[in-house]
Amino acid sequence: MKKIMVVEDESIVRLDIVEMLKAASYDIASAVSNGEKAIEATEKVKPDLIIMDIKMPKLNGLKASKIIGKKYEDIPILILTAYSQSEFVEEAKQPNIVGYIVKPISESQLLPAVEIALAQSDKMKTLKNEIEQSYIEIENRKIIEKAKGHLMTQLKISENEAYQKLRKLSMDNQVGIDIVARKVISQ
Ligand SMILES: [Mg+2]
Repeated sequence: MKKIMVVEDESIVRLDIVEMLKAASYDIASAVSNGEKAIEATEKVKPDLIIMDIKMPKLNGLKASKIIGKKYEDIPILILTAYSQSEFVEEAKQPNIVGYIVKPISESQLLPAVEIALAQSDKMKTLKNEIEQSYIEIENRKIIEKAKGHLMTQLKISENEAYQKLRKLSMDNQVGIDIVARKVISQ
């Protein structure tokens, strides 16, 4: 179940949002009343999504979003505004802010926004993993190529023999072929 954190200084609005989310089967990770508390709670509960009001005492929602984004760039934030506060739009162009909800909050506005934000965030995480994975694979392939080259020169063997040798070392030692290749290069 996705954990959502609600940050809103007006308790009635906060409760309203919490109730709407609960009714839609979301898990409320935390519900707090200002930006400072939001930062603390994020550390503790690591929510999947934050719904954050802009105007709040102590620390406003945009500043809190910026601070949270520096450490948790993967947590998406939906901003709540009382009206289209155009003066905030520039400041709200932060990579972790994924959308706006204009007050008064209605279920028909809140729930689709939450669903889209969560789906996009999942997609981003998958993409990021895939990119990281393919980067690692490319690096490993380069290292294996290099190790093959080393063995070919050192042992005067063919490319295929060099590869078979790496594979055998990998299986005999029960470690990845990239680890064997790194060892070969470092010798
Ligand atoms: Mg407010």
